Amino acid sequence: MKHKGILIVVSGFSGAGKGTLMKQLVHAYDNYALSVSMTTRNPRPGEEEGREYFFVTKEKFEEEIAKDGLVEYARYCDHYYGTPREYVERQLEKGKDVILEIEIQGALKIKEKFPTALLLFVMPPNAAELKKRLEGRGTESQEVISQRLKRASEEADGIEQYDFIVINDKLEECVQEMHALIHAAHCAPSRNEGLIETMRKELDALN
Ligand code: 5GP
Repeated sequence: MKHKGILIVVSGFSGAGKGTLMKQLVHAYDNYALSVSMTTRNPRPGEEEGREYFFVTKEKFEEEIAKDGLVEYARYCDHYYGTPREYVERQLEKGKDVILEIEIQGALKIKEKFPTALLLFVMPPNAAELKKRLEGRGTESQEVISQRLKRASEEADGIEQYDFIVINDKLEECVQEMHALIHAAHCAPSRNEGLIETMRKELDALN
């Protein structure tokens, strides 16, 4: 039986290494599709239009909101970020698990709209490592780094709302662990209602 894919929400503090992790996961296994978000923030050096994000103006973003073109959106550190609807729906239909790398407000909206979504929270091994990674990136001003560390404290309050925590210490191990968690999530009864229904009908027919 061909399954519809599920939504995998991946959140984590800025600098936790989510981007690298997601690219590795999608590269290592072919059942995933990575959604590319729309944002009003400026590209960082090395980021490409359509690969990391679709970079748009505030006006264009608000147009997308108005025509319901986004599955969810949120404001984060003075900018809009949102998930384009069309790609997500098309990939789920194809049976792919669609990964959304989004912050906590968006994650909670997704859980509301798609109760079978799996919510994963990526953490660095410790807070000092987070600061080191943010500074080591070398692409953000001290002011932006402070703003993101402050935001990390706020987001830490919501971690209990996620299904699983993944510690991003060794990249390879973390990728394996995420894949295993997603695989296990597919076996939950709540994500197999069709299968259960069919089995019940078949059993009834035998009696
Ligand atoms: P960054 O500016 O570092 O690329 O992203 C800032 C934050 O916005 C990260 O926590 C990232 O996961 C989140 N983000 C990226 N895209 C989306 C989106 O489409 N929706 C929401 N709600 N958050 C997003």
